[in-house]
Amino acid sequence: MAKFQTVRGMRDFLPLDAKKLRRVEAAAKEVARLYRFREVVTPLVENYDLLAAKSGEDIKTRMYAFEDLAGRKVALRPEFTASIARLIATTLRNDPKPLRLFSSGTLYRYDEPQFGRYREFWQSNFEIIGSDRPEADVEVLSLTSNIIRRLGLRNHWFKIGHVGILRGLLLEEGVKDEQQNSVMQLLDAKRRTQALRAARKFGVSQEGIATLKKIFEAKGKDALKVLNQLKRKLKKYESAVAGVENLGQIIELCRDSGVESHIMVEAGFARGLEYYTGMIFEPLAPEMEISLGGGGRYDRLVELFGGESTPAVGVAHGLDRITLALDKQNANPEFSERFVVVIPIGAKLIPRALAIALQLRSKGISVEMEIMGRTISRALQDADRRKANYAVILGPKELKEETLVVRNLKNRQQTSVKIQELSQILLERFS
Ligand code: AMP
Repeated sequence: MAKFQTVRGMRDFLPLDAKKLRRVEAAAKEVARLYRFREVVTPLVENYDLLAAKSGEDIKTRMYAFEDLAGRKVALRPEFTASIARLIATTLRNDPKPLRLFSSGTLYRYDEPQFGRYREFWQSNFEIIGSDRPEADVEVLSLTSNIIRRLGLRNHWFKIGHVGILRGLLLEEGVKDEQQNSVMQLLDAKRRTQALRAARKFGVSQEGIATLKKIFEAKGKDALKVLNQLKRKLKKYESAVAGVENLGQIIELCRDSGVESHIMVEAGFARGLEYYTGMIFEPLAPEMEISLGGGGRYDRLVELFGGESTPAVGVAHGLDRITLALDKQNANPEFSERFVVVIPIGAKLIPRALAIALQLRSKGISVEMEIMGRTISRALQDADRRKANYAVILGPKELKEETLVVRNLKNRQQTSVKIQELSQILLERFS
């Protein structure tokens, strides 16, 4: 038979990699608890039309879409937000606002595989539904900062912008929604010249083009200074100015409340997903050229799915990429595992050995039972190789006195222990 490999873009997570990934996911879950985001688990397979509705051309063409056996057009989710918007527009429509919802799991996009880009990848996703206020935006920035910092990743920063700045200018220049989307897609792909060409084609005036160029140049660490300069340059475009002011409020609140992330404003920054309406941001780390996550405000999305007009803001963290960034900084911990092996001498003692293993596990101790029928010396060799801390050896002679031998596999010292006291003794040694 042919030797099978994983499908291109898909990966196996071997035990150490799985541990690293789950640690990152656990940090996201803990932050969800602290910020009171309740978890929802939505299906991996959704209606194609739901997923295609607002995700943007780029993602639409990369979906794993297929017909199920009844001929329904479905797809593997390429993001969580469409599923959440579906819930808000239907089952959760009458739930009191704000809602804070959390999800984590795998997503699927037919991206070109490369460093940090896979066809199956992991995200933790946070959404606040029902608040249009800057403090809601700040909570999303704050929880992202919290996850990154508690994992021990150093020197991260947020790239931050506001969709209302670019869209506001385009709107006032008479550019339609669909056309705005194409300009934003080009900007997301960092194709500025083409974006300007498209804007010109869609009727943006000479002055508008010159102002767009100024927006592209507006970036820097001194966020509030950049925004003040930008405001002056945009004064003709009222809704663009509103975007600048909103972004200024959010950044000021971050600063005043002690959100510990550096902030880099970039006014010409756009994100691929079409549904953003306000602040947008990406967390970044110096060792990675790609974003560790992405988020922002999307006040019209729920409405588009047939719900009431509902403001919302959220973020998705790329769990694979955060794991990679931790690796690059050597910031993934050593995962020391503490466990014992239980070895019966002779087949007759297997039932008792199994019972002792069971009892230790009930006290929270990890146990590998000897299940290969090996001799004691072979079993001990194997326990060494697996880096067990202790071997619990059951022999017929000791058993008569309800004792057994505990061998410390580091210093090879052996002690005789009463079976009744075994779990207590091991717990003490482990603590
Ligand atoms: P997006 O949903 O496109 O806003 O992406 C949010 C985050 O998900 C990105 O910043 C990445 O960290 C992660 N991500 C998106 N696409 C991929 C991919 N193909 N492989 C790995 N991570 C991804």
